[in-house]
Amino acid sequence: MRKKYQEGFTLIEVIICVCIIFILSGLVITRIINAVEDAKTSTCIANRKIIERVYPIYQIKESSPYTFAQFFADLETINADRKYLAFIPVCPSLGEYSATARSEQILCSIEEHNAHLRIQDNTAEELIGRVIGILDSFKNPDGTWNAQALSDAGITQYQVTNNSAFRNLYLQDYSWDVVTNTAGQAQTIMFYLLPSGETLVYAVSNTGQPWNANYVFDSTTGKWHYSSSGINLANLYKDTSSSTTYIDAVMSQVRASGEVLLMDNVFHN
Ligand SMILES: [Zn+2]
Repeated sequence: MRKKYQEGFTLIEVIICVCIIFILSGLVITRIINAVEDAKTSTCIANRKIIERVYPIYQIKESSPYTFAQFFADLETINADRKYLAFIPVCPSLGEYSATARSEQILCSIEEHNAHLRIQDNTAEELIGRVIGILDSFKNPDGTWNAQALSDAGITQYQVTNNSAFRNLYLQDYSWDVVTNTAGQAQTIMFYLLPSGETLVYAVSNTGQPWNANYVFDSTTGKWHYSSSGINLANLYKDTSSSTTYIDAVMSQVRASGEVLLMDNVFHN
C-alpha cells in the first residue's frame, strides 16, 4: 500500500514552531540584557579601581596630606594636565561616584554596582539567627511558648522575654562579637530583645555610654547605619508589645543616619 505523505506544515505545527521561537528569543533577549548589565557592572568596578589606585601614587608624588575623600573631590584639578590618568573614568550606566569618608573606596550611586562591596560581614544576621535559634527551641511550631521545653531546660518565660535575662541566657552559649572602626577603636556588637521578640543589633564603643549605639543594624534592609553622635537606646525598655514608641523613634533615627559597611570586622564609614 502506498503511504500518503503530507506536504508542508499543518497550522498547529506552525503555531508550535512560532511559540518555540518566541520562548527561545525571550530567553536569548533576557540573557543579552543580563550580559550587558554584568559588563556594565564590571566596567564600573574596574573604573573605580583605576581611580582608587591613583591615590597612593598621588600621595607619594605630592607628599600630600589629602584624605582619600579630599583627593577624589579635587581629582579633576589634580589630573588637570593628565598627570595621572588619560581621562577620569565614569560609570557606564551614568551612576555618580562618591568617595567613602574614611575607607579609601569609591561607591557608585547605582546600588547594584556596589554589590561586590556588599560582601559584608554577616555578623548581625548570624547574631539574629542565634537569638531566633534559642527562642525557637522553646516554642511550639505555631510560635507559642512550649511550657514543657522551658521547664525541661529549667528556664522561665521571663528569661526568654526580658532583655537582660535573655542576654544572660545567650551568653551561656555565646559571647559578644568585637569589631573595630577604621580608627581601630573596638566596637562590641550586642543586641536588644524587643517586646515583639525581634532582635535589634547594634554596636557600642567600649569607652562610650553602654546605651549609646554608634552603629545600628536595620534588619529590614540588611544595612548598618552610623551616627556620629550615637543613637540612644536607653528608653527601649519602656516599650511593650502593644506600644512601640521608642523603637519606632530609634529606627527612624537609624534610617536617617548614613549607611556603613561592616567588612573584615571593620566598620567602613
Ligand atoms: Zn556604576
